[in-house]
Amino acid sequence: MMIDVPGRTRRLLEVDGIVQGVGFRPFVHGLAVEHGLGGLVRNHGGTVWVEIEGETASLDAFGVALLARAPRASRIEHVGTREVPAIGEQEFRIETSVLVDGLASIAPDIATCETCLRELADPRDRRHRHPFITCTDCGPRMTIVTGAPYDRARTTMSGFAMCEHCRAEYEDTRGRRYHAQPIACHACGPRLRMIDGSDGVDADPIAFTANAIRAGRIVAIKGVGGYHLACRADDDAVVRTLRQRKERDDKPFAVMVPDLAACDRIAHVDDDERAMLVCAAAPIVLVRRRADAAIASSVAPESEHLGVMLPYTPVHRLLLDALELAIVLTSGNRSDEPMAFDDDDARVQLAGIADVFLVHDRPIATRADDSVMRVIRGSPAFLRRSRGYAPTSIRLPMSLPRPTIAVGGHDKNVFAIGVGDRAFLSPHVGDLGHANAARAFRETLDRFERMLGVRAEQLVVDAHPDFESTLYAEQRAGDEGLRIVRVQHHRAHFAACLADAGHAGPALGVCFDGTGLGDDGTVWGGEIFVGDAANMERVAHLETVCLPGGDRAAREGWRMAVAYAVASELDVERCVPRIDASMRDAVAALVKSDPRATITSSAGRLFDAIASLVGARDRSSYDGQAACALEALAAASDDEGVYPFRIRSGTPLRIDLRATIRALVGDAASPRDRARRFHRTLATAVVEACVRLARTHDVEHVALSGGCFQNAVFTSDVLAGLADHDLIALRHRQVPPNDGGLCLGQLFLAARMHA
Ligand SMILES: [Zn+2]
Ligand SMILES: [Zn+2]
Ligand SMILES: [Zn+2]
Repeated sequence: MMIDVPGRTRRLLEVDGIVQGVGFRPFVHGLAVEHGLGGLVRNHGGTVWVEIEGETASLDAFGVALLARAPRASRIEHVGTREVPAIGEQEFRIETSVLVDGLASIAPDIATCETCLRELADPRDRRHRHPFITCTDCGPRMTIVTGAPYDRARTTMSGFAMCEHCRAEYEDTRGRRYHAQPIACHACGPRLRMIDGSDGVDADPIAFTANAIRAGRIVAIKGVGGYHLACRADDDAVVRTLRQRKERDDKPFAVMVPDLAACDRIAHVDDDERAMLVCAAAPIVLVRRRADAAIASSVAPESEHLGVMLPYTPVHRLLLDALELAIVLTSGNRSDEPMAFDDDDARVQLAGIADVFLVHDRPIATRADDSVMRVIRGSPAFLRRSRGYAPTSIRLPMSLPRPTIAVGGHDKNVFAIGVGDRAFLSPHVGDLGHANAARAFRETLDRFERMLGVRAEQLVVDAHPDFESTLYAEQRAGDEGLRIVRVQHHRAHFAACLADAGHAGPALGVCFDGTGLGDDGTVWGGEIFVGDAANMERVAHLETVCLPGGDRAAREGWRMAVAYAVASELDVERCVPRIDASMRDAVAALVKSDPRATITSSAGRLFDAIASLVGARDRSSYDGQAACALEALAAASDDEGVYPFRIRSGTPLRIDLRATIRALVGDAASPRDRARRFHRTLATAVVEACVRLARTHDVEHVALSGGCFQNAVFTSDVLAGLADHDLIALRHRQVPPNDGGLCLGQLFLAARMHA
């Protein structure tokens, strides 16, 4: 229709960000009616399209109000505006979900909003104490979706027929439950139930669970993205029992507290951390534990930090209100298996762990572990991006020529589906070394493709031939005749950071992590690249050392200490005095003589070595434990010393830390000060290499990626050093620096490769 109505203007607004499934369309509808505008609003791919028509002044006022009054759970990143011919439309309407380019849009799961919480607590409200209260601003989304497009019939709420009341609210375009797909009430919604092994429990499930927890029992609680295990956080005996039954040694448990005041009683929480705790995604936030916190030491052994979250579902809210206690709330699984989310599966998996179950009959379609964040130098950083964020899309710097699946890495696996310039990242899948995790990977990927309604034509994999994700992709590529793209691990890290920061390049890319297969067959992990996604050259790396015992070295950091001691011509016995002499000598002999031994430039393994050398930790029972212990030591020191180091010329440059190791071993200072000095030394060496390379290659941006940039002390030192030399740091904002962000870089590289 190409009519232009005189005196009227029509504008098309494309709103980008988190704008779907968060009550955005009813909000726009209300705003348009308020300003007397005609037109329509609809979801369009990952964005919301608004067409508004009326007098110019009203259109302008609408535009201002759109930004100022957007719903709580939304985040507007960009509004594209253009004028289109007016057609004389007076009414404003909401177009229900449509598929665009075959792509559905699904919102992440959102913590219960203030308005729903008020109704939950209001005895006069018909949803008083309703454990499944939601509205367009809050509630489950991705975890209940079974297909595309998003509507009630394609969610796990399809089995619950709406009562008359709920139906009326669902259809009221002006209400706050218009098209709120999970809408329910006491009359028509899901029900909570207790299972304690005895026959039927008639009591109020919330009161019963609260009593069980108070009495020191372990409870399995069905949440929004899976089952959790819960117990009192102040009772060392029950926390130890939970560790034993769950077969989990030292890895910290997260804690849920009733409110911010309770959080302040156990931890030092700054404004940035507070903002993260109360945000719509309600992640676990790493905060510094108070010395006098009433939290059992076995919750997070040896750690200065606590992972804390606030209640994010009505069930949590009701339970924590009844308890008025902090509880351990950890994934419902044994050891490192994926979190249980299927009811039958959970009953089997958690049978020997939980004493009682608090369950309900709203099925979970997709598993979503809690997200984990921390503040590093004043900015939020993801450690795990999952519930509350997945599957929100992230914009790629350029479009993919065809629908693509990036399968991610092996540890902390997250995969992504890329369509056009959109990357849809999965929730956290986990470490694929576990047989059940490999199965979970396949199932989640299958569900994700159905949910988005995408058929992939291309797969991107890590260059490592033995990764479970790589094997899966190869088989699938063969079966379905799909093309496959192989990407070196650290190049994917670099590209992930570029995509994350929206920087096309060129830049330097500092990629410091555990391990990844390098181009030359050695194990990389302390690399600096220069270039952009089209062309990356490895221009510096940590000087290589022997990796004695391969993967065992990651669990037994003392092996790396021996490797560094030998490389630095130090007395091995003096360096690792706590290690049994025969083991120590065997490893030292291997390092000295075996010409076939693997060598590595891994920064992660260097941190492990230093943790052992300063006496912080010789072994790790979980990934990153030694490095965390070393960081905790360093964080407790304000020493400003730096050890010597060398940067050896050549292409690539080599960062040689043998002088550092010798100085550190001979240093009589406290372990804290030595740990602090080491962090500053490594950061200084990295910055010096970057300064040299920036000059030679004429670049001013430095991308920081890899698991080592979860370390706040190291990251802060690097950031300060780069700033001192007028270099611009690019940090991860939307995905974690660890392998959980790898898939984003894999997609970007695939897009660039075929541009
Ligand atoms: Zn709500
Ligand atoms: Zn109802
Ligand atoms: Zn990595």
